Amino acid sequence: MAELMDGKLVSSLVLDKLKVRVEALKTRGVEPRLAVVLVGEDEASAIYVRNKQRACDRIGMGSAVIRLPADTTQQALEDQVRGLNADPSVHGILVQFPLPKPLQEGPILALIDPVKDVDGFHPANMGRLMNGLPAPVSCTPKGCMALLEHYNIPISGKEAVVVGRSNTVGKPMAVLLMQANATVTICHSRTENLANHCRRADILVAAIGKAHFITPDMIKPGATVIDVGINRVDGKVVGDVDFAGAQEIAGAITPVPGGVGRMTVAMLLSNTLDAAERRIASPLCFSQ
Ligand code: NDP
Repeated sequence: MAELMDGKLVSSLVLDKLKVRVEALKTRGVEPRLAVVLVGEDEASAIYVRNKQRACDRIGMGSAVIRLPADTTQQALEDQVRGLNADPSVHGILVQFPLPKPLQEGPILALIDPVKDVDGFHPANMGRLMNGLPAPVSCTPKGCMALLEHYNIPISGKEAVVVGRSNTVGKPMAVLLMQANATVTICHSRTENLANHCRRADILVAAIGKAHFITPDMIKPGATVIDVGINRVDGKVVGDVDFAGAQEIAGAITPVPGGVGRMTVAMLLSNTLDAAERRIASPLCFSQ
């Protein structure tokens, strides 16, 4: 039976450490603060935002949720982001996606001050990641790496397969694994013989968005399986991996819920604290 990679436990340990960093900042007169912009009434987005706020409360970090109606114009949303960019009391900005149609996400991502881009989605930060330069790293892949580290999963020299190539999860995940010296294969909807690729993986990351897509026969015995997927089936949240079958084959596996999702929130707060600490270290990096 696979070892359970417990995101609830590991994220809780991370949050405890972040709390100490928050206190240290406060003793220096800095109140770290995350601003979240939520547009529209999407139920899942509202839950994610609430979880982020709760986590901020838990570590004593300030948070502000700016709620905008679904019919907000692109211009109004961009003005909102500009206002947060210019607000010195805000260290991290997150615009919750997906945005209601017809709002465009690309221009919003590019508008967020890269210094406050705690999601790590700004093109400049993605570019820095590709170049191996310090940058806020996309929270979900960063959380997956933290789980691998906590459970002492060897990465260097291992075969890693990432299923999914989105800018927010699959691509940065592959880059982080490559930087940790894994041999990385990225699979997607056009990949031929997907199961064969998956079966080679010592570390298999599923970031697809299709419930139970990864079946036990696609998993190498003893492999580490990271399930990023969040899918709602009959009112229940399930991952991209057939967990019940996979845990009989894998060496280690993340559950859904209670796996990667928890880590994502913890990494968001970690990125916000990084931003606040960087501002103290070099105040001029704060662009208004
Ligand atoms: P996207 O829809 O942006 O990307 C999905 C990827 O899966 C695409 O690259 C797509 O390929 C690939 N894919 C789709 N169908 C297949 C298939 N049949 N075979 C192989 N590959 C396929 O999703 P995200 O990356 O944003 O998210 C993926 C999942 O992770 C979702 O369930 C999402 O909810 C969840 N998620 C969870 C987070 C967490 O904190 N746990 C955070 C972020 C996301 P192609 O590019 O060819 O279309």
